[in-house]
Amino acid sequence: MQDQNKIWDVAIIGSGPSGLTAAIYTTRGAASTVILAGEVWGGQLMLTTTVDNFPGFPEGIQGPELMEKMKAQAERFRAKFIPQSVTSIDISTRPFKVSTNSSVLSTRSVIIATGAQTTWLDAPGVKELIGKGISSCAPCDAPFFRDKKVAVVGGGDSAMEEASVLTKYASEVTIIHRRDAFRASAAMQEKVTSNPKIKILWNSEVVEAVGDQKLEKLVINNNKTGETMDFPIDGLFVAIGHKPNSDIFKDIIKTDEKGFITAYEGDKHCGTSVEGIFVAGDVMDKDYKQAITSAGMGCIAAMETLKWLEEK
Ligand code: NAP
Repeated sequence: MQDQNKIWDVAIIGSGPSGLTAAIYTTRGAASTVILAGEVWGGQLMLTTTVDNFPGFPEGIQGPELMEKMKAQAERFRAKFIPQSVTSIDISTRPFKVSTNSSVLSTRSVIIATGAQTTWLDAPGVKELIGKGISSCAPCDAPFFRDKKVAVVGGGDSAMEEASVLTKYASEVTIIHRRDAFRASAAMQEKVTSNPKIKILWNSEVVEAVGDQKLEKLVINNNKTGETMDFPIDGLFVAIGHKPNSDIFKDIIKTDEKGFITAYEGDKHCGTSVEGIFVAGDVMDKDYKQAITSAGMGCIAAMETLKWLEEK
């Protein structure tokens, strides 16, 4: 590869809103920048339909289109985009060595922007039926459930969003939630509770998913009454949160007990426990997880990285 012996100023790992925003800022700050985008690039917005809360798009914008625009903007300023997944970082040398399955790159600094992924329900049958009626992405899979009965598990914004998307196709959508109140924002709750196609099962937990070639029914336990019932269903959408994509860094960088990378080390915003490695987006963010907050963190991480490179 032509860049094999190059020492990059910045290697950005990940290509969601945080990684691509970081690239826009580092390249404009005249730092040579490589984006190790992952084999599947773009992050969670690639699985989203209309994004209505990203400023600048008064009519909303499709998630994949927004990501294409961010990528094009980063490339306009000469960020090098490599669609490979990082397997390790060697922090015992300077510059750092960042490995993928097919190359090793040298870089003075790193921004980790690897995002987060779906948490699945820990109930018998669930793992076996993923892709056979069980999904975590209504925008991707809802069209398969036209005129069918589906359920969504969870009580946060993601669950509300999944349920709303599903009503465009399914004949009936049931939200199954383990408590008697949602944690989703008031606006999202209103959207769901005012939709006649959506029913809610409160204080209810899926204890088993049953099906041979595809999902046929759920076994649901009411945790107030202790009653268990069979619930025939065609599809189940799991929306109970996300796990940070930090496994490959856990031996070299400090994380919390859930695997979120610990940021704000010392006086560096978005700085990690390793000097010269910065972090941005959902891999460090337990709370907000918005495209716009990720993008903002990408900007902060990039500016801190540029400052650090200049000091060095
Ligand atoms: P979340 O807010 O953490 O909600 C997870 C939900 O899943 C909670 O209701 C939780 O129940 C439930 N849950 C967790 N573990 C469970 C289990 N083992 N079994 C059954 N239920 C379980 O996650 P999220 O909805 O993915 O949202 C994450 C962040 O992204 C939030 O800040 C949210 O605002 C944001 N978000 C925003 C938008 C938007 O603005 N358009 C869309 C999606 C997400 P409890 O309530 O009982 O804990």
